[in-house]
Amino acid sequence: MRQVTVTMGAHELTSLDAGEFLYDGGAMFGAVPKVIWESLVPVDEQNRIQLTLSPLLIRVGSRRILVDVGFGERHTKRELKIFGFDPARNVEQALGTLGLAPEDVDTVVLTHLHVDHAGGATRERGGTIEPAFPNARYLVNEREWNDALAPDARSAAAYRADDFVPLEEAGRLEFVGDTHDVGDGVSMVRTGGHTAGHMMVLVATDSGTAVYPADLIPSRHHVRVPYIAGVDTFPLDVIGEKKRLLEEAHRERWLTILDHDPSGNVGRIVKDDRGRYAFRDEDV
Ligand SMILES: [Zn+2]
Repeated sequence: MRQVTVTMGAHELTSLDAGEFLYDGGAMFGAVPKVIWESLVPVDEQNRIQLTLSPLLIRVGSRRILVDVGFGERHTKRELKIFGFDPARNVEQALGTLGLAPEDVDTVVLTHLHVDHAGGATRERGGTIEPAFPNARYLVNEREWNDALAPDARSAAAYRADDFVPLEEAGRLEFVGDTHDVGDGVSMVRTGGHTAGHMMVLVATDSGTAVYPADLIPSRHHVRVPYIAGVDTFPLDVIGEKKRLLEEAHRERWLTILDHDPSGNVGRIVKDDRGRYAFRDEDV
């Protein structure tokens, strides 16, 4: 169980363990040659590497804010084969280990609508697809919404309309722009890059700031500026935004909570002995 909770002032931040999946290493590392990245991560005979599904739960006062929801519980046979999921593991089960039910979540923040982040936003009950968090409002960047409804040919396979269209039909959706104040110190900031409407989440607490960069920096290896995923829609935007984030996260000692790293998702941005940014695990 890779679930980790960090207390910062009045905020409790939990990197949830909503399962794992296998993903093509080339798609994850883009232009970085395999001879380099295969020394960093184990790779299977189908060229796949393991990634975690690690949504962020923020508990503060009576608020229960969930940032991303993992793949959820609706898997096709094809998805099970491609991604190697354990279908028994999902965000609901992860919340259960903390004594929480989907009903307890008041806000769901979706950094973007790719299936590994938004798949768990809905669930199927009695043949109907409905919001999986019945008492929550769902926050999504408006540009991301429009792109997900009419994706370009390269992005189409990453979106499933059933993950998000039922949220609008149920009246649970709120669109946000480039920045949005979620309340209680939590804010969303558009980064673009991975997708045009991709957002990261910042948490301002009494004992410093935490950041959830989502797929701007999906694993510790992607802290290296040229490590850009092949699936990023606007790779040069990723570089600019990542540099800006790394500089600030390093200078201000932000707790950095990643979304896909099987070696550990909670740490800080440091500089290595060659002056390059690196990820150091937090002692938790
Ligand atoms: Zn992702």
